[in-house]
Order: sequence, then C-alpha cells, then structure tokens
Amino acid sequence: MPVTVFERMSRIARDTGAINLGQGFPDEPGPESIRRKAAEAVVHGLSQYPPMMGIPELRAAIASHYARWQGVTLDPAEEVMVTSGATEAIAAALFALLSEGDEAVLIQPMYDAYLPLVRRAGGAPRFVRLAPPDWRLEPEALKAAITPRTKVVVLNNPLNPTGSAYGRADLEALAEAMAGTDAVLVSDEVWEHVTFDGREHVTALSVPALRDRTVKIGSAGKMFALTGWKIGLVCAAPHLMRALARSHQFLTFTTPPSLQAAVAYGLEREDAWFAPMRADLQRKRDLFSDGLRAAGFTPLDTAGAYFLNVDLAPLGVDDDLAFCDRLAFEAGVVSVPVSAFYEENPVRSVARFCFAKHDRTLLDALERLARFRP
Ligand code: GLN
Repeated sequence: MPVTVFERMSRIARDTGAINLGQGFPDEPGPESIRRKAAEAVVHGLSQYPPMMGIPELRAAIASHYARWQGVTLDPAEEVMVTSGATEAIAAALFALLSEGDEAVLIQPMYDAYLPLVRRAGGAPRFVRLAPPDWRLEPEALKAAITPRTKVVVLNNPLNPTGSAYGRADLEALAEAMAGTDAVLVSDEVWEHVTFDGREHVTALSVPALRDRTVKIGSAGKMFALTGWKIGLVCAAPHLMRALARSHQFLTFTTPPSLQAAVAYGLEREDAWFAPMRADLQRKRDLFSDGLRAAGFTPLDTAGAYFLNVDLAPLGVDDDLAFCDRLAFEAGVVSVPVSAFYEENPVRSVARFCFAKHDRTLLDALERLARFRP
C-alpha cells in the first residue's frame, strides 16, 4: 500500500517546523463540555469493551441528531453503528460489499483511503474525473462509469479535497445513474456540518431512491473538532448494516467507551456548537482566500469542508508535488498536492490548504506565501 500524503506532508512540517496547512485538523481542542464528559467517563471506570455496535446512548443520539438536523428516520437498534473513525467505516463498508472483480466507482480527486481499500477488497476501480476550476460532476460521466457489475459507488459529499457540495438534484441524478444495478452508495458525509454560505447539507439517506441502498458515514471528529478521537458514525438500512457489522467485528470490534459516551452527550446537548463553528470557519475561509488573492494567487471556491484550493495554472505550475515541496522547504508552509488524490490522469496544478487554524497562523502563512515566488 502507498504512504498516505497526509503522513508525508505532516512529517515535513514536523521536520522543518513549517506551518502545517496540509493534513486537515483544527488547531483547537473542541468543546470543553464534551472533553469533560470523556474525562468523567474515564474516571468513572468505563474501561472495558463496550458493545460491538456502539453504546446504546450513542446509537440513540446519532439517530436523534440526524432526525433533527437532516429529517431522516433511523432505527438505532438496526440502522446505526459506531466505528473507530470514519476511515474504519469506509474499510468496513468496502470489505463487506466488494468481492474479487466487483466494480467500484470512485470520483477523482478522491480521499486517499478509498482506492487502496477498494483494491485490498479485490474491487476493480472505475473512475469519474473532475477538473478545476468548478469540478463539475456530470451525470453523463457517472452513467458511463456505472455498469451492471458496479457493486459500490463512493461519494464524498461535501467533497475533500475540492470543497464541492452536492445538493438534492445531484443526488437524484446519481440515483438515476444507479437505477437498474444492485450497487450500494457509500456516502462519506464526514463534512456534513462544515458547509458555508447558508448551504444546508443534503444526506443521501433523504433521497427516497437511495434510502435503502446507502451507507452513510459521519465523523464526530469533523463535527466537534475532535479528529484524534476517531469516532465514526455509520447509518444504513438493516440488511446493509448487518453486512457491515460483520466487517467491523474483525477490524476493531469496538471503540473506546469513554469517548463514545462523551460524543453521545455532545450530540444530545451541544446543538449550539454548530452554527458558530460554521460561521467562524467561513470567516477564516474568506480571510485566507482574500489574502491569497492579494498575494497574487488564484483561490478556488469552497462550499464545504475546511480546505481551500489554489489554482497554480495561472502561475505556470504543472507539477504540484514539486511546488508543494518547495513551498514547504523554502517558504515554510505545508500544503497538499491535489494530484495525490488522483490515480488516472491527475490534475497537477492545484494545491490544497487547510484553513481551520488560528487567524494568526493563517496570516503568518499568507505573509510567507506573499514572499514566495514559484
Ligand atoms: N481528513 C484529513 C485530511 O483530509 C486527513 C486524515 C488523515 O490524515 N488520514 O486532510
């Protein structure tokens, strides 16, 4: 398996002391009330294996959260599972749903875990390719990639790294492209609460034609700025969930109970966290994007997820790997080359920056970027 680009770029940041806008994580610790709950649960002695599917309080909290926020009805006993991070959920889904030779449709640029896991599951990837500046997902391209042999379609919505967010019409077009196959949609919605400009996230589970053929994956890490806790939230119809649970039992079996209890508390009691989080991230997006423009760069639009992409083509850059290395070593700012998210025919002229950082860190990075000439 390849070395993940996040590990490589974070290592460069550690080794050189450069500002790390590469790997996506906020530089704040998340809500104090939730962290206190975790500490209390540890002191209280929640130390042994919790139930394989997740603690009942958290499964109930997940179902009620999505009912409140996204208008979907889920049975917590049959349709909800907790995993050790969304990445485990993706692995569990792909291992459960793919057999040797089954086709899996992946949309490039794709989150870097998808392809190695599809291959490890024996799946045969088929790619839909998006390109800057608007990364449009054409229904025709989806139709062309989906065949009677397709067993899985993976959609990341909002999409990391592009920052695109897909709405109801896009999901309906996807449902239409999947009609007549028995493919399952693995809907990676970890950025569901990180959407901007008043945009409301539309879950694939709310599209009737997708309701019972979707595995929806969420992340407490992205919801509450707790990325290191590795709590994944999985929702799917009972027949799919039963298959995923088989996978999960042999991957991690379960997830730390103290952290599950704290996330359950957060989902039940911290609804007030989300609006300020979105507003603050949107303000940071604008601050960083305005600063980039002032420094002579061409930022692309971000509708969701806390990443801003810079189009390097106007600067004549056609090797994003070399650009990102030079930016790290010479200017002291770590980003991620977007070609790392492609397998075939990569776009080599875009760099991704994480803006979920303190203002002073973003301003410092902008100063360094303004002095840097590719
Ligand atoms: N989701 C994070 C990102 O896109 C990285 C997670 C990881 O390092 N595996 O940057």
